[in-house]
Amino acid sequence: MTTATDAAVTELAGLLGRARAGIAFTGAGISVESGIPHFRGKGGLWTKFDPYKVAHIDTFRQDPAQYWTYSLNHRRTDAEPNPAHRALVDLERRGHLRAVVTQNTDGLHQKAGSSQVVELHGTSHGVVCLDCEQRFPRAQIDRLNREHCPPSCPACGGAFLKPTVVLFGEALPTEALQEAQSLALAADVMLIVGSSLQVYPAAAIPRLALEHGAELGIVNAEATPFDGRASVVIYGKAGEVLPQVVSQIAAG
Ligand code: NAD
Ligand code: ZN
Repeated sequence: MTTATDAAVTELAGLLGRARAGIAFTGAGISVESGIPHFRGKGGLWTKFDPYKVAHIDTFRQDPAQYWTYSLNHRRTDAEPNPAHRALVDLERRGHLRAVVTQNTDGLHQKAGSSQVVELHGTSHGVVCLDCEQRFPRAQIDRLNREHCPPSCPACGGAFLKPTVVLFGEALPTEALQEAQSLALAADVMLIVGSSLQVYPAAAIPRLALEHGAELGIVNAEATPFDGRASVVIYGKAGEVLPQVVSQIAAG
C-alpha cells in the first residue's frame, strides 16, 4: 500500500508526464470533496440506503415517488468542482489527458472546464418522461417536485418522470460506451480517480485499457480490485493528491 508520499506522487507525475494519449476514469469519489456523497465503501450512501429501492429501474417504474422523495431530501444542486476536478483540467491543458471518462452524473468535470467528458451513466441535469419521451431541464422538474412530489410530466401529464441517469438494471448509453471503449483502446495511461471499480460494465473500461497496453495510475481513498495491476497506486483524497501531482509536473 502506498500513501501519498512524495515518492508516490513523483512516480505518478512521471507516469502522467510521459502520457501522450492519457485518459482519466473517474467515479463518485472525485466529487466527495465537493460535498456529494459516494455509494460504496466507508461513509458511502449504500451504508444508509438500499440501492435497490432508490436507484433500480424496476422499483422506479413501480413507484417513482420514492425516488423523487429521496431527491427532495438529498439532492445537492449547489455543488462546485474541487481541486481534483481542476487538476484534471490542468492535465488536459498540458497535453497529458485526452478525455475524462466518468461514471458521475453531476456535471462537475464540465463545470471545472474539462472539454472532453464522456458520461457513462448519463447526467442528473436532465429529466425524461417515460410516457411521451420529452426531455426537460432538471431545475424545472425539481421546482415542480417541491410543489408536488412526485412531479408529473409538463407535456403529457404522465407520472413517470425519470432523471437522465442510468439506473441499476438499465443499459449504458451506446454512444458513450463506444467512445469510452475507443479511448481506452488507444490510451497509453489511464488515471483512475475515486472509483471503487466494482460497478460493471463501467469498470470494464480500465480493464480494456490495461489489456491493450495502457499503464494504470490509481488515486482512491480505499483499495480497489485493480490495485495489483496498476503501475502506481495512491491511497488518499483526490483533492489533495492530484494538485500535488500537477505541481510536480509543472515543476518539470
Ligand atoms: P463508488 O461509490 O462505488 O466508489 C467511490 C470510491 O471513491 C470509493 O472506493 C471511495 O473509497 C473513494 N473515495 C471516497 N472519497 C474519496 C476522495 N475524497 N478521494 C478519492 N477517493 C475517494 O463510486 P463509483 O465507482 O463511481 O460507482 C458508483 C456509481 O454511483 C457510479 O455509477 C456513479 O454513476 C454513481 N454516483 C455518482 C455520483 C456523482 O455523480 N457524483 C455520486 C454517487 C454515485
Ligand atoms: Zn410526458
